[in-house]
This record gives sequence, C-alpha cells and structure tokens, in this order.
Amino acid sequence: DRRNKQISILIIGLNNSGKSTIINYFKNKDDRKFVSVPTIGFNVEHFENQGISFTAFDYSGQGRYRNLWEHHFKTCNGIVFVIDSSDRMRLVVVKDELELLLQHRDIKRRRVPILFFANKMDCIDALSSVKIAAGLNLEKIDNKPWQICSSNALTGEGLQNGVQWLTAQIR
Ligand code: GDP
Repeated sequence: DRRNKQISILIIGLNNSGKSTIINYFKNKDDRKFVSVPTIGFNVEHFENQGISFTAFDYSGQGRYRNLWEHHFKTCNGIVFVIDSSDRMRLVVVKDELELLLQHRDIKRRRVPILFFANKMDCIDALSSVKIAAGLNLEKIDNKPWQICSSNALTGEGLQNGVQWLTAQIR
C-alpha cells in the first residue's frame, strides 16, 4: 500500500530530447509545487505533484557526473525515458544509454516500470514509435513493464496518457 508513500519518478534522456518541456507541461497544467535545482555542470530538475516527485536528468555519456544522481536509481518507483524521435543520428547513443540503465545494479533486477516517450512526433522526419521500439530492441525487456508513447511535448499530446500508464503500474 503506497498511499502514504512518496512516489519517485525519474525522467531521463539525452540532452535536447524534451525533458524540460515535458516537465514544464506538467508544472503549468495547474498550480503545482516545484523546485528547480541550479545547474552544476549538468542539468537536474525537480518538482512534486500529488505525492509524486519527478526528477529529471540529462542522461549522457559524461561519466563524471553520473555518481551525482545514480543513487536515485535505488529508490525510484518508475522511469520516464525521453527520446527525440527526429534525432536519428543519436538513436545508437540512446540505445547505449538504455543498455547502461538496464544493466545498472540498482535497476537490473527490479521490476521498475519504464515509460518511453517517442517525443517530437510532430517533426517531419520523426521515426514512429514502432520503429524506435525496434531500433532500441525494447522487446527484450522482459522483467519490467514498459510502454512507448508518441508525444509532442510542445502541445502536450500523448503526455497525459503516458504518465497515467506509468502511475497505474506503480500504484
Ligand atoms: P531537454 O534538454 O531534454 O530538457 O530538452 P528541452 O525540453 O530543453 O527541449 C529541447 C528543444 O526541443 C527545445 O527547443 C524544445 O522546444 C524542443 N522540443 C521539445 N519537445 C518537442 C516536441 O515534442 N516537438 C518539437 N517540435 N520540439 C520539441
């Protein structure tokens, strides 16, 4: 029974994938409490809403900052993994980062649900969520619930559905 517990959701993805825009969408929807932590060489954002705490990080190869936030893996209840669907060049980088996440000792054996946002679906050259799922080999994730949703963080399209799926997995 998690009713009295704080739920912690991590929002991760490469820089420029749309994490801040997604966070802003939920912040601005109505009056919600949030805190932005000043940048210390990498980006981190945090806000809380109805007992759910959201924390966003740039998840990219700069190993020296990883230890500043990897401890969140141990306690997070769900992960939002944001992908720029129009950034075909970096899909291989996304795949590597996802692999690192899935192999992380605090994630590997936990049944932590992962929501993938195939973001920037409005871009003319965006890959479909089906193509991204195939490119990232999501089918092989067999010990965690996962879902991929196309989204447009600028309009909010797809965001609510995705987050609803995620919180339903947790509660
Ligand atoms: P972050 O680095 O992951 O936090 O990415 P941002 O939220 O700062 O977004 C990077 C850029 O992509 C910004 O210029 C956003 O306005 C833009 N952006 C974010 N989401 C979308 C989207 O769904 N569609 C389009 N066309 N642009 C987006």
